[in-house]
Amino acid sequence: MARIIDGKKIAAETREDIKRRAAEFTAETGVVPGLAVIIVGENPASKVYVRNKHKACLEAGFRSDVIEMSEDTTNDELLAKIEELKADDGIHGILVQLPLPRHLDEKAVLEAIPPEKDVDAFHVVNTGKIMLGDYDFLPCTPAGVMKMLEYEKIDVTGRECVVVGRSNIVGKPMAMLLLHANGTVTVCHSKTRDLGEVTRRADILVVAIGKADFITGDMVKEGAVVIDVGMNRREDGKLTGDVDFASVEPKASAITPVPGGVGPMTITMLLENTLTAAKKKTK
Ligand code: NAP
Repeated sequence: MARIIDGKKIAAETREDIKRRAAEFTAETGVVPGLAVIIVGENPASKVYVRNKHKACLEAGFRSDVIEMSEDTTNDELLAKIEELKADDGIHGILVQLPLPRHLDEKAVLEAIPPEKDVDAFHVVNTGKIMLGDYDFLPCTPAGVMKMLEYEKIDVTGRECVVVGRSNIVGKPMAMLLLHANGTVTVCHSKTRDLGEVTRRADILVVAIGKADFITGDMVKEGAVVIDVGMNRREDGKLTGDVDFASVEPKASAITPVPGGVGPMTITMLLENTLTAAKKKTK
């Protein structure tokens, strides 16, 4: 039987700590950490994420601005909005909710956010800093996974870490953080031959592919730590991960559930990054 890693509990404790540190910072400086989230269009999942971010900011005592822009917003209009927020001293973090409508230039938009306000850590400067291991912000989901491992006292040093998925927002930075933590890291993707053969080597297996229940018990080593980043909507509307919990949990030593695993950590790390941005601006 695996230990269930309770993301909700870890997130709640971490948010309390962030709230306390933010209150101390505000008392000392008079500055309230501020996050602006821009959402373009009507994507229902994005709306839920943005609402949750807004709520989490308010609960932590932050300023939270949500800027809703219509589906037919142009690149110039979106870039002008970012310019406005760039100049706003009360806003320390700017986040553009992805995915953007197809006609918008995601790369140009992400690079318009100044690195010091890039609390998603998607700007090329922040991406480069992560590569070097000398960073101010980490992308929220991989940072949340590292926080969970630390909380659970799971030492990465010298262990076989396998990351399945190589996206810029999860898989690649995840691999880099495990490497910085002295893991021996392998990254798999859709062209990996005999995926099961690689995943069975993992002491720590992190899965971020976006395919419901894809990793099954026969692909996991006895005693592995399994972190499921996946968030997939089943036909019945229920949320499920990339890991088949029923067959993997009996083999794992520790596992994150979906929901209630990595998900709650992502917004928590966004709060952490916003507080960091406010402190760096103020010092
Ligand atoms: P993505 O950009 O679609 O990337 C998926 C990755 O999985 C790609 O690298 C792809 O390989 C790989 N892949 C696809 N099919 C595969 C297969 N059969 N075998 C091995 N690798 C395969 O997805 P993402 O943005 O990283 O997100 C991944 C999942 O995490 C999604 O379910 C997403 O909803 C979830 N997510 C959760 C959170 C959270 O807060 N919990 C945050 C972000 C994302 P190629 O590169 O070869 O195509």
